[in-house]
Amino acid sequence: MIDLLVVGGGPAGLATAIHAALAGFDVVVAEPRPAPVDKACGEGLMPGAVRALDALGVKVPGHPLLGIRYVDAVGERRAEAVFRTGHG
Ligand SMILES: Cc1cc2nc3c(=O)[nH]c(=O)nc-3n(C[C@H](O)[C@H](O)[C@H](O)COP(=O)(O)OP(=O)(O)OC[C@H]3O[C@@H](n4cnc5c(N)ncnc54)[C@H](O)[C@@H]3O)c2cc1C
Repeated sequence: MIDLLVVGGGPAGLATAIHAALAGFDVVVAEPRPAPVDKACGEGLMPGAVRALDALGVKVPGHPLLGIRYVDAVGERRAEAVFRTGHG
């Protein structure tokens, strides 16, 4: 008998499953797609996500992101900021 059934193996489901497993629960993840689950993604993580994954013991490969910049479709307008706490 399992303690927790997580339906969906996206980031939210997997983080929930890892938290529960680390707390000693017997967890099963039900995900219809084969691993690794492919999805649309810009491959960027905000600093909070990097910290959350680090706390779960998930190492995040890649280059550190120091801030973020949004540019409109024609490149005329932009908004940007440097991350205040940690890197992405
Ligand atoms: C184009 C694009 C680019 C993005 N880029 C980034 C980025 O660079 N960085 C970032 O942090 N975020 C990015 N995101 C956002 C990110 O993808 C979502 O925030 C994240 O995937 C949400 O996770 P989730 O677990 O809530 O849902 P999902 O990732 O949607 O996971 C849900 C899972 O549940 C499964 N599922 C669905 N129905 C059932 C069912 N009935 N039974 C069992 N399983 C089921 C699905 O197969 C899926 O694997 C991007 C999103 C898009 C669309």
